[in-house]
Amino acid sequence: MNFLVVNPWIYDSAAYDFWLKPLGLLYNAEILKLLGHHVVFLDLLNRYDTDLLKFKSPKDKKYGTGKFYTEVVEKPAILKNIPREFKRYGIPLKVAKNKIEVIKNEQKIDAVFIGVTLTYWYYGGLKTIELLREYFPTQPFFLGGIYSTIYPQHADETFSKYDVIVLPGTGLNPLIQALQILDLSKSSLNSFDWFEETDLTYDFYDSVLPYVVLITSIGCVFNCSYCVTPKMWQFQFRTIPAIINNIKYILSKRPDIKDIAFFDDAFLLRKDIHELLKSLSFFKVRYHLPNGIHARMVTPEISSLLKTANFKTIKLGYESHDFKIQKNTGFKVTNTDLVNAVNNLKSAGFTNEEISAYILLNLPEQDKEDVIEAIDFCYELGIGINLNEFTPIPGTQEFDYLVSNKFIDKDIDPLLLNNTYLPYWSNFGLSEGEIREIKQYARLKYQH
Ligand code: SF4
Repeated sequence: MNFLVVNPWIYDSAAYDFWLKPLGLLYNAEILKLLGHHVVFLDLLNRYDTDLLKFKSPKDKKYGTGKFYTEVVEKPAILKNIPREFKRYGIPLKVAKNKIEVIKNEQKIDAVFIGVTLTYWYYGGLKTIELLREYFPTQPFFLGGIYSTIYPQHADETFSKYDVIVLPGTGLNPLIQALQILDLSKSSLNSFDWFEETDLTYDFYDSVLPYVVLITSIGCVFNCSYCVTPKMWQFQFRTIPAIINNIKYILSKRPDIKDIAFFDDAFLLRKDIHELLKSLSFFKVRYHLPNGIHARMVTPEISSLLKTANFKTIKLGYESHDFKIQKNTGFKVTNTDLVNAVNNLKSAGFTNEEISAYILLNLPEQDKEDVIEAIDFCYELGIGINLNEFTPIPGTQEFDYLVSNKFIDKDIDPLLLNNTYLPYWSNFGLSEGEIREIKQYARLKYQH
């Protein structure tokens, strides 16, 4: 069969290509290919799309990251009182229409797959499907991803007008459901260890790729009160030979790739992490860890292996300066852990610019002082910060707390839970003014 697999636009007020690749969709596309199907992959967020380049050249910032092309669009009614511009991020509408027209004319498409990751990005999925339906009115459409898994009922109701089949679940489950509906054989998936046996080849991209994203593990052994990862996945990791062969394949096809980002939630937690880091050092690329790594695991030996392997971006999960919050949210880190990690990294030769820490902003139990203290603490340690605004996610303790205390309704539209919009309407956490002050404080502090 011929499948069209589509990474949808983002509709939001802020988005940035911070090594963003649709890993779930890419895995599904690779598996469909392994099953003998033909896949056309359309990534509406590809900043290097060949048709987009004729229209506008992308400006890369550091290590292949950069701004998406954007167009201001009309807000959905539910956001009409939020005083922020609403934009479509990704390939312009006109270019997207041409691309879809070409796909339609060149081959018969039998089914369409779409994936939505962040829950409040479902609107981008909806607008993408609205457009695709004009070209493929009768084909089955399938929607998978984190949003469908966390909000299956909302997804069913929202997407039913475009006759979309929602596929909740992780791993192979959504694909197996789709194959069943299409009456296609799925027997070869019975004993298929998809994570171990599937390489992300990036062969679906015919454009330049400034970087690739991989994952070496899925899930996490911690259980933080605001995080949905442990609810979705059992911690598992790929073997080192599989990871190394995957990288070898990518670099043999694309020797120009200079940057590889690992999007693991718990990159350092595997037992054989020392061997993995040693093996990674054989490739002449730069590595990045955009998700927060566990500070407690950053020993002197790990730090020096990270340095030797040529890691250039180290982000530590810190979140809060307050011991009570650290303890109540899952105890993944203490202030001492952060200090030790930073000292070890610096002793191994990492610069101040290469190390930063995530600080959570606007947790229900957090006050402004906690965030300021966390900023000051990181500043004194001589590392950068990433302020990460809290989003309530169903299935987490924080979400349950907000529902049971009637701060939010359990059936709230996920668009309202976008961390950018929360402070404009919610009566928990920090106000929009306080958040602005904190960001201004951090900006001024780090200017010096
Ligand atoms: S350590 Fe990170 S990935 Fe693991 S549960 Fe906590 S926030 Fe989630």
